[in-house]
This record gives sequence, structure tokens and C-alpha cells, in this order.
Amino acid sequence: MKVKIIKGTHQIGGCITEITSDDGYKIIIDYGEDLTDDPIKIKKFPIKGLTHGKKEYEGVFITHSHGDHIGLISDIKKNIPIYIEKVSAKVFAVANDFSRCIPINNNLKTFDFEKPIYIHDLKITPYRTDHSAYNSTMFLIENNGKKILHLGDYRSNGYYGENFYENLRKIGNVDLVITEGTNITRVNSHDNKTELELKEEAIQIFKKYKQVFILQASTNLDRLKTFYDAAKETGKKFIVDIATANILKTINDENFQYLQDKDVDVWLSNGYSKENIEFYKKKDADFYDKYIAPFDNVKRSKNSTHGEYVMLVKTSMLKDIKYNLQKYRDNAHLIYSMWLGYRDEKRMNTEKTRYFIKELNKLNIQDEYLHTSGHADIKTINKVLEIIKPKQVIGIHTEDNTLLLLKLPNYVIVNDNESIEV
Ligand SMILES: [Zn+2]
Ligand SMILES: [Zn+2]
Repeated sequence: MKVKIIKGTHQIGGCITEITSDDGYKIIIDYGEDLTDDPIKIKKFPIKGLTHGKKEYEGVFITHSHGDHIGLISDIKKNIPIYIEKVSAKVFAVANDFSRCIPINNNLKTFDFEKPIYIHDLKITPYRTDHSAYNSTMFLIENNGKKILHLGDYRSNGYYGENFYENLRKIGNVDLVITEGTNITRVNSHDNKTELELKEEAIQIFKKYKQVFILQASTNLDRLKTFYDAAKETGKKFIVDIATANILKTINDENFQYLQDKDVDVWLSNGYSKENIEFYKKKDADFYDKYIAPFDNVKRSKNSTHGEYVMLVKTSMLKDIKYNLQKYRDNAHLIYSMWLGYRDEKRMNTEKTRYFIKELNKLNIQDEYLHTSGHADIKTINKVLEIIKPKQVIGIHTEDNTLLLLKLPNYVIVNDNESIEV
């Protein structure tokens, strides 16, 4: 087999990997956009044989529903199948409808974990991994007795961490592993906090304030569990935004039956209020029927925002928060629970997030950072390598993949568009 990292040896997010079998059949793993918090500014990345020209690829395999891994799939030629884990596909569809609204009419094929997919001389087996997106996948690719493991984005500090190691033991030894190295250039990356440790810190914060707003990704269900559990332990109502509510409804996971909980409410933003809803129904009846109607009048939480609560918010909900606080101003606080890069003024497209935080600060609501990484710390990477004992290791999803050379055994430096033989 041959591996080529088309993009991603020197950047976090937007990584694209090409694998070619001995008989010359090619697949792609992940086709997402460069990291941004603004879907309007997504940059295209055309590839011959994938997005235009004669078909050269047998399939595209998606590791998980984050935009930097899946965000560009609508550009893929319709005669190339896109493989994605079945629940991730649904989560992506909801997130896409709420945020970017890119029509996805591709040839999507969903898979179950640990059920191999055969394409000519390639065997591809998806395994579940631990990451900040629900049901993330790593792929074991086999061809003529050789094995490549593409880990996707992963960590071990989430609720699936131990199972992730268990899955690696099932996979056993491989010839080459493609690992992410996101945290290699980030400070304080050596020991990720676990979600359980984060929960304990959240409990302490929740005790100090009456209303706590939380800015986090809707697709980070581990984090949702962390804050839900902390809210339960501190006797606070838990209010989710409508996008998150729809994701909870979609996954139908027995561990996430939060919508059945009487202490959980769904916040229907003012954009969906009685006055606007008639207009909205006309504008996009499908969207209304699918996502709003199931919660309209049932869980409208106008009355629930008295007293003590924890509320998930989006930057688009600034008006709602202001409106609400005019009526019920109390002892409020904001938790920022995402990567700091999304609010770093030196990075592109962070204006919305920074504006949102600044406006809340003006209302006397201070913000506090409470987060743990969705990406492997160096201890986790080394533990992974001890289990699968790869003959060669290459690094992607990192700002500087040469730094991994100092930390990992059998490490090979490859740059974008260089090929490595297995
Ligand atoms: Zn990523
Ligand atoms: Zn990710």
C-alpha cells in the first residue's frame, strides 16, 4: 500500500489522507475544511478525480462529524461513495442544517463499528475511538497482509477512553499508524484532565453562581454529560438550546435520555418566538416541522429561566440572553468550554465568539475557561503505540509534525503530498 497525506502534516484540521492499494485502487480518509468558527468563510479544496474530472477514488471514509473532517463532502463527485458511521451521519445532518445549511445530496453509505467494508483488494474496518465528537471512528486498512491504522482525532480522557484502548488491543500490531499530534505544540498538553475531573471543577463553579451560561460545541456529547451531571449534583435546572436538543433526540442513546428529565428544558430562541414563527414556517416549513415543531409549546422554556439554572448557549443567542437578563438579572457567569483558538484574536474568523464574550462581559457576566482537550496528550499517544507496536509512525493534524520525531519511536517525517510505502 501507499499512503499520501494530501493535506495535514503542518496544520490542525482539514487533513486529507490518500491510501492506494497494491492493485492501484485509491481511497480518501476525511475531507473537511480548515478550522474556523464561521461556516460562511469555508475555503474549498478541489482534488482531481474526487471533486472534478474522471472518478479516481473508490470511496471517502469519514472519521467523525467535525467540520474539519467532513465539512467539504458536498463537493465530492456524486458517483463516489462516502462512508460514515450511521449515528455520526445523523448528528452531522442536524448540525449542518442548523449552522451551515450546505445541501448534502451525496452518495452516503453508513456503517456499523467493527463491520468490515471490502473495496477490491482493500479491507477497511471501522472501530470506535474516544474523541469530543460522538461515535468517532478509527480505520484499520488491510491489503495483502499489510495493516495501516488511521486513528482520526482521538484522546483517552473522555468517557470512552478505556474502551478505546480495548479496541486497540483487538486491532493488535500494525505496520503503519497515522496519528494526530494536535497537542504537540500546545502548552500544558502533557496531562489532559479527564471529563470526570472537569465535572468536579464544574460543580464548584455551579455552587458559586445562580445562572451559568455555557459556550460549548453541540456535538461534544461527553461535555454535555459532564455539565448535565454537575447540574444534577448542584440541583440546577439544565437548559439546552434547540440545536443540542435535536442532536439528543437524534442519537436516541440510552445514556443520553436527558430530554425525558423534568429538570431539563429546551430553550427556543426569540428567533423562534410566536411573532417570528409564522414567518419562519413560510420561509422553511421543512426545517420548522423537523426541528422546531417537536419542541414548540411542549418545552418552550420562557418560564423556566427564573431561579437557578445551567444553560447551553450559542453566539447567535446573544439577544436572547440580553432580553432574558433584563427581566431576571442575578448572579450570572459564563463558562467557555472549547478550544481557546476559537477566541484567539490572532486567528482568523474568531470575531463572533469574541464579540459574544465581550457583550456578556459588559453585562457584568465574567467568563471562565473550563475545558479539557479532545486530542491525545503525549502520554496517550505513547500508550497507543505500546499497544499496536507500529513499524512506522506518521503524524498529521498538527502544526509541526517534525516535533513528534523527538517523542515517538519509529517516527517518519512526511510532508504534504509525499508518499510512503507500506
Ligand atoms: Zn480535527
Ligand atoms: Zn475532531
